[in-house]
Amino acid sequence: MTNYFDHTATSFIEQDVIDFLAKQLTENNYNPAARYTSGIKAAASIAKSTQTIASFLGAKSNEVIITSGATESINTALKGIVFAPNPKHKRILTSRGEHPATVETLKFIELRLDYTIDYCSLNNNGEVDLEELESLLRQNQYDLLTLIHVNNVLGSVNPIAQIVKMRNQYQPDLPIHLDAVQSLGKIPFNFETLGIELASFSLHKLGGPKGIGILLKNKATRLEPLIHGGGQQNNLRSGTENPALVATMAYVIERMQKNFGQNNLAVADLKLFLLAQLKQAKIKHQVISPEDAVPHIVSIAFPELRAETLLNVLAKEGMQVSIGSACSSKKSERNQVLQQLNLPQGLDQYILRISLDKSNSQTEICDLVRIIKTALDKYAV
Ligand code: PLP
Repeated sequence: MTNYFDHTATSFIEQDVIDFLAKQLTENNYNPAARYTSGIKAAASIAKSTQTIASFLGAKSNEVIITSGATESINTALKGIVFAPNPKHKRILTSRGEHPATVETLKFIELRLDYTIDYCSLNNNGEVDLEELESLLRQNQYDLLTLIHVNNVLGSVNPIAQIVKMRNQYQPDLPIHLDAVQSLGKIPFNFETLGIELASFSLHKLGGPKGIGILLKNKATRLEPLIHGGGQQNNLRSGTENPALVATMAYVIERMQKNFGQNNLAVADLKLFLLAQLKQAKIKHQVISPEDAVPHIVSIAFPELRAETLLNVLAKEGMQVSIGSACSSKKSERNQVLQQLNLPQGLDQYILRISLDKSNSQTEICDLVRIIKTALDKYAV
């Protein structure tokens, strides 16, 4: 697909991944619970793939729970903590920079399960305000701290190592869940080194198919399962596992790690190229993503034209970009992450999110900039 600048919403599946998946679906499609040879082989394949996935994430095999994607992983982590028979403070700490998968789950927990949810503010870079976080950790006892790793609107990176240190100082027993959907493949990730208890991922953000994801859970953390049934995955997530998809996940994650440095350098160059082109074309704009954000996500305000209008003009020309979070752009409410940034009044309505991948070319970027320029010349107010 060309002229695609929305890799944060979902990524391409390259041909070798499709070929791998097709072969797996042909040869590795038995029920891993079956007692005959093909079933036993399917179970062995899942065990091997899980081992590969775990080792690339810095986790152990028995810490991997396969889910249908990050939304399920996040729901399992958050509700699983709340429903588990742990001692309860009935209070959860999160930030104002979370994805709707977290925000809406926490709203449910607050309204239906009578929890208090504390939302830590963000600083002007879109990262968690560490002073406020420290003060909240000092004042209250929580059942869970859940945070996004890389923000999907801005690309801001939360300082997890510092946050873990703070947790260790004030509430060493407090489990931390990380929404690592946009960080895996973009910045180094190691479950053990980070010292967190839970982490969520979606394969379709990494060049794999939709419908599969991971929840990492360390041994000491108790979760009540969300999905009951045949007791698969140590009773933590029932439902027949798909050996072909799990093998494909291992393949995609291994492939991503191998190309990590090269891909990220290529994307960093593309971001610089994009910014240089905007400057050269004398397009009035303001980069909203902080300088140290991951280069894959560049939120830019074009203050002369509302993002909605610009998006529609670009879409007519076949340019695929987004405004705010793709997951919530169908809703008319204002993006809560952008509300946190102290932007001039109303500027959040003028922000486009351009998200890049190494598959983007400089020619595509030139075309995008040219069409933005034409749109602004024609419609700018
Ligand atoms: N968390 C973040 C940061 C995301 O960007 C997304 C998807 O956009 C999700 C969670 C939800 O992932 P999925 O829709 O694959 O379940």
